[in-house]
Amino acid sequence: MLKAVLLDISGVLTEDGEALPGAVEAVARLASSGFRLRFLTNTSRKTSAAVCEELKRLGFDVAPEQVFTAPGAIRRHLERHRLRPYLLIHENLEPEFADLPGDAPNAVVLGDAEQRLDYAHLDEAFRLLLEGAPLIAVGTNRYFRENGTLHLDAGPFVRALEVAAGSEARILGKPSGDFFRAVLEEAGVEPGEALMVGDDVECDVLAAMEVGLEACLVRSGKYRQGDEARAPEARCEASLAALVEALLDAP
Ligand SMILES: [Mg+2]
Repeated sequence: MLKAVLLDISGVLTEDGEALPGAVEAVARLASSGFRLRFLTNTSRKTSAAVCEELKRLGFDVAPEQVFTAPGAIRRHLERHRLRPYLLIHENLEPEFADLPGDAPNAVVLGDAEQRLDYAHLDEAFRLLLEGAPLIAVGTNRYFRENGTLHLDAGPFVRALEVAAGSEARILGKPSGDFFRAVLEEAGVEPGEALMVGDDVECDVLAAMEVGLEACLVRSGKYRQGDEARAPEARCEASLAALVEALLDAP
């Protein structure tokens, strides 16, 4: 029986800082129907607190403990393993790591650092990796969509460093199974009792199904025609609003 719904944020609930049509109402209907809701994002440009505030501003009813971001997972990992990070992250994300030691780094954290992903910074990260520092990444998303255009995400840079240093990145956001399992554990549900809704066929849909969740691909956000063919076992709906209608109004 379905008890929890995990919602990817960008492309499912929002796009370009606006709520997608019907999304606020759809989330409210899910909550009032008793589903445990968790909000997931790989965004590497905002802190967990900022993500929660933005959702609230758009009208979504969400509490900070329902929001799971990849940077939040990385922070917990660094603390647990007492790692001192070399941060290649977006400047907006700095508050998430502000009180961690940054001198004599022994780990590389790579996110969508925008202009900082230049030769000098990547080269410094490469040297740390050669010295044995682990490479920790937000995700392997290849691209994201903003203002109607696709842009390079962190994934290609992660791959570049992996190839150069002969190391394998530890991914702590989607599509990591650990990320989904941490969310399920916190929500107190088994994989078979949860549905993941996303617009990214690899990082949301296939990754969640790998862990044993049901999944639904929505044809909004970064969805591209034909994506559903890559996940034939997944549900596919035009939008979150359409999914919620189908789920709750089914005879
Ligand atoms: Mg998305």
